[in-house]
Amino acid sequence: MINLILFGPPGSGKGTQAEKLKAHFNLLHISTGDLLRAEIAGGTQLGLAAKQFMDEGKLVPDEVVIGMLGGAVEEAKSKGKQGIIFDGFPRTSAQAQALDNMLLEKGTSVSCVLSLVVDEEELTQRILKRGLTSGRSDDNDVETIRKRVQEYRTKTEPVAGYYKNQDLLIEIEGVGTIDTIFDALMQAVNSVSSNHSDN
Ligand code: ADP
Repeated sequence: MINLILFGPPGSGKGTQAEKLKAHFNLLHISTGDLLRAEIAGGTQLGLAAKQFMDEGKLVPDEVVIGMLGGAVEEAKSKGKQGIIFDGFPRTSAQAQALDNMLLEKGTSVSCVLSLVVDEEELTQRILKRGLTSGRSDDNDVETIRKRVQEYRTKTEPVAGYYKNQDLLIEIEGVGTIDTIFDALMQAVNSVSSNHSDN
């Protein structure tokens, strides 16, 4: 399998690039943000619990997010996918460890971690612009955005080190046209996927 992680702060373009990468490499796209918003829209108990954290710009507790991903590998295989692209997951070290364990149990592993690098000023501008059309309340409020970036810096950024130690981290310039960034991501994936031998 090719299992990719798209890593980067809120507004760095993970969702946009994940859409393109999944089509190109025939991957199952797993966005924990989208899964959580679907739970909220469906009025489930999980959604209800997650909503209060999301509205405050905080991370949803690990066990809630990890619990949603149990069937990912089976789903990818049953749909004839080449692998999985994780977008917005893992966001904490505990999530990264849980993902490693889950993949190991299924005889596979993380192929590489693509980290989109975008400066803070650009991030805030992008999120506010997205807020005009996304319908997401967490995209409209400068305070909530600030909290999300703060959560990223304290809890998520350290996860990069976890993957750097395993030699899986690839940094990609996240400012430029969508296609230029996509080309850089594709090249990075091609350079690692040739070394992969699991199924
Ligand atoms: P963005 O990357 O723009 O912040 P997402 O849709 O990925 O947007 O996430 C929106 C919100 O959903 C986050 O602020 C957080 O509250 C919650 N969330 C998404 N993924 C996770 C995760 N892996 N762990 C904890 N919370 C998450």
